[in-house]
Amino acid sequence: MSTVMRSPAPVRGQESEEPLLDVQDLTLQFHARHGLVRALNGVNLTVRAGERVGIVGESGSGKSVTALSILRLVRAGRIAGEIRFAGENLLTVPEARMRQIRGKEIGYIFQDPLSALNPVRSVGDQISEVLRLRGVRKAEARRRTLDMLQRVGIKDAGRRIDDYPHQFSGGMRQRVMIAMALIGEPRLVLADEPTTALDVRVQAQVLDLLWDLADERDLAVVLITHDLGIVAGFAERVVVMYAGKAMEECSTDELFRASIHPYTLGLLHSLPRVDGEVPEKLMTIGGSPPSPSALPSGCPFHPRCRYALDRCREQVPAFVTPPNGSHPSACHRAEVLAQSPGVLQ
Ligand code: ADP
Ligand code: MG
Repeated sequence: MSTVMRSPAPVRGQESEEPLLDVQDLTLQFHARHGLVRALNGVNLTVRAGERVGIVGESGSGKSVTALSILRLVRAGRIAGEIRFAGENLLTVPEARMRQIRGKEIGYIFQDPLSALNPVRSVGDQISEVLRLRGVRKAEARRRTLDMLQRVGIKDAGRRIDDYPHQFSGGMRQRVMIAMALIGEPRLVLADEPTTALDVRVQAQVLDLLWDLADERDLAVVLITHDLGIVAGFAERVVVMYAGKAMEECSTDELFRASIHPYTLGLLHSLPRVDGEVPEKLMTIGGSPPSPSALPSGCPFHPRCRYALDRCREQVPAFVTPPNGSHPSACHRAEVLAQSPGVLQ
């Protein structure tokens, strides 16, 4: 008995360090009339309990379809790879279980709350429905909805609970979406460009709120954005995506200090300077991202990369940590670039 009790202990120890969300080599393809669309070509993403992770990349790099794939909300696409959430394989759980996971265990916030909210139902009804579906009685669901609306900073929530989505400003509507995403007490929230439609001041307020809520609830957040500045202020770790692929993954600190991938460095060089001066060439990466229906051979970034070798045109680089590096990237030249970070000046 005692040996039986003792032997599983280290396993439990390891389990507690297992990520809450573990996405490995995720691929997604659509069969369109004009041919095969390779929207995701190897996404790796791990998120630990309570961790805030950013996904960055230019428009079209597959950030949104990554979130939709995790929630299994992609229609007509073929998903492969691995998506594990709290020990469950999200690619194989029955749809009934997936419906429970959405909202209850994984909340989500999208860029456009108007398309996510029903225009002809009050916000209070829509938020409390999440609880009602779970058997919470009407009065209790309304009380908890009211608490949540207050918590997300809706002023005069007692009156506004019966208002309709169009009666709220953009920033307030996004707060309503946050309330809806959190009312089921999920452990993870996927936030896809949650502040992109808002002006800068409101953007900061909404991100602060999300940050505070994540902190007080030990909530893990995946924040998807095309804006490195937002990632810098919010995330502890970052995954850089390009052409449906994870190109580099590191701590936010390393992103600005020790990133390796030429694509990441190009994105960083495109940032306006701290003194507010816009660099002469805002976009230092020439060209544009490839179409997912006509991906180049080898590394998808090679046509825009000034460090490309023949190998880069021929072989897809694996997503690995170079022997002398501190974090993984998908670049044949990672070892050289990790050695001499100044090489790309
Ligand atoms: P991002 O959020 O990074 O801007 P998306 O995830 O929206 O990028 O899209 C990635 C690529 O997948 C885009 O080229 C897009 O056109 C393609 N895509 C997304 N959904 C579909 C679909 N249902 N059918 C075909 N292609 C799609
Ligand atoms: Mg998107």
